[in-house]
Amino acid sequence: MEHAIRKLIRNVPDFPKPGIQFKDITPVLQDPEALKKVIEWFSLTLDSVGQVDLIAGIESRGFIIGSALAVHRNLGFIPIRKPGKLPYQKTRITYELEYGSDALEMHTDAVSTGQRVAIIDDLLATGGTAEAACKLIEMAGAEVAALSVLIELDDLKGREKIKSSLHKNIFSLIHY
Ligand code: AMP
Repeated sequence: MEHAIRKLIRNVPDFPKPGIQFKDITPVLQDPEALKKVIEWFSLTLDSVGQVDLIAGIESRGFIIGSALAVHRNLGFIPIRKPGKLPYQKTRITYELEYGSDALEMHTDAVSTGQRVAIIDDLLATGGTAEAACKLIEMAGAEVAALSVLIELDDLKGREKIKSSLHKNIFSLIHY
């Protein structure tokens, strides 16, 4: 199954900027069997992490996978978004990129104290985005139950970076 999904991931050189090899998952989403298998794999990752109360998706491919997963598991979904997109009261976290910084936001009423949240995204690279998402959940008094991504770029050591927030329950199906 890993092999079948890997074959569908399209490598787009120099997108969105020179030097980046963009891992395009749209061919996976487009294929009904592959999409189903992927959502089932994500669901499987959550079977071993204890209680999960909510699915959090990171904008924007985390929304696609995360909302399908939430329906699959009968859970609610919350969006973790780029700045300026969420309409209501929100918490913001700023994090460092290779050049400059970026930020993520979450509604203040998205999670309740003590809830256990699974964070979903398409890809783990340097881990900056996932780490920021973990911190947003923790700042709101909730707990990160798991981080599950379809793809992990091993050389960028994102897994190491998020260890301060989440030292176990990090799952990825395909490694490059
Ligand atoms: P990072 O914060 O470096 O771990 O980057 C992860 C975020 O950036 C995820 O939301 C990904 O969707 C996106 N991303 C980073 N690198 C790539 C890549 N090579 N291909 C596709 N998406 C990427």
